Amino acid sequence: MEKILDEIKGAKSIGITGHIRPDGDCIGSCMGMYMYLKKTLPSDVVIDVILEEPPAIFSCIKDIDVISKEPGHDKYDLLIIIDTSIDRIGAADKAYRTAGRTINIDHHITNQGGGDVNYIYPEASSASELTYDLMDKSYVDKDIALAIYIGIIHDTGVMQYSNTSPRTLRTVAELIEYGFDFPRLIDETFYERTYVQNQILGRTLTESILFMDGQCIVSGVSLKTMRFYGLKSKDLDGIVNQLRYTKGVEVAIFMYELEPQRWKVSMRSCGGVDVSDVAEYFGGGGHMRAAGCNLTGSYYDVINNLSARIALQMGE
Ligand code: AMP
Ligand code: MN
Ligand code: MN
Repeated sequence: MEKILDEIKGAKSIGITGHIRPDGDCIGSCMGMYMYLKKTLPSDVVIDVILEEPPAIFSCIKDIDVISKEPGHDKYDLLIIIDTSIDRIGAADKAYRTAGRTINIDHHITNQGGGDVNYIYPEASSASELTYDLMDKSYVDKDIALAIYIGIIHDTGVMQYSNTSPRTLRTVAELIEYGFDFPRLIDETFYERTYVQNQILGRTLTESILFMDGQCIVSGVSLKTMRFYGLKSKDLDGIVNQLRYTKGVEVAIFMYELEPQRWKVSMRSCGGVDVSDVAEYFGGGGHMRAAGCNLTGSYYDVINNLSARIALQMGE
């Protein structure tokens, strides 16, 4: 922790980045870090946030407009990579290769640590919780607290998933002391769905298939269907969780087609199967109960490949 603060102190230009297709935790932690550094560092220090365009629901986070898709500098003194290992940072990869120093803050069990300094704790609920840990609390304000809070609710399913610890709840208790309207934030950033998002959720549930004696469930959305409804990847958030709520199911798989015959796979487990192990086998990663990877082939090829790896664990 001391080491991280020392790295930050000396830098005159800082880039902050996270993973491709950024989620609430990624955006909340990067923006929380941005606001905190803006507040604590001299005003001549350049600070950029490099991420893909955030979903509109996150416009409640202050300064979200500072996010740029490409690095604003050829070489940063320091690049801070949050909520991911360095292989999923997209356009910020250029900045990674030239950065003077790098810090990696993450909670993915599959992250081996790609920074000069690493702050990686798989037991943390979220990268946002870890980012908050690093802050001198006397500088935290309502805007920073709100960004961190959004990150935590998104990665814990509003403090429901098993990654929620007593420590997470103590952090959340501190955060809501700042007095932002948290029930509204939960509704508007987590539960609310557009009409078409609800339509695709319903359709995906209807078309789902149970296999392995009802212990696994799978469903997917083809590129053709994506185009028919005019869907983006973020419109599919939460579907895999809903699949997992099916009684008797141990593992839920949801996939959508990124390009013909190339699928983005999301997996969720009730705890009996380590889906990060399955994802890692196919070049992806994640956590024991929530992981993802990309696979090629037909829809049924993907199911066959995944189920072989899941069956191996279930047989154990
Ligand atoms: P998702 O299913 O996309 O919500 O992702 C579940 C978890 O797995 C998240 O923590 C992701 O960061 C991680 N994850 C998803 N896809 C990948 C991937 N291709 N490589 C590494 N980690 C991934
Ligand atoms: Mn994330
Ligand atoms: Mn996360």
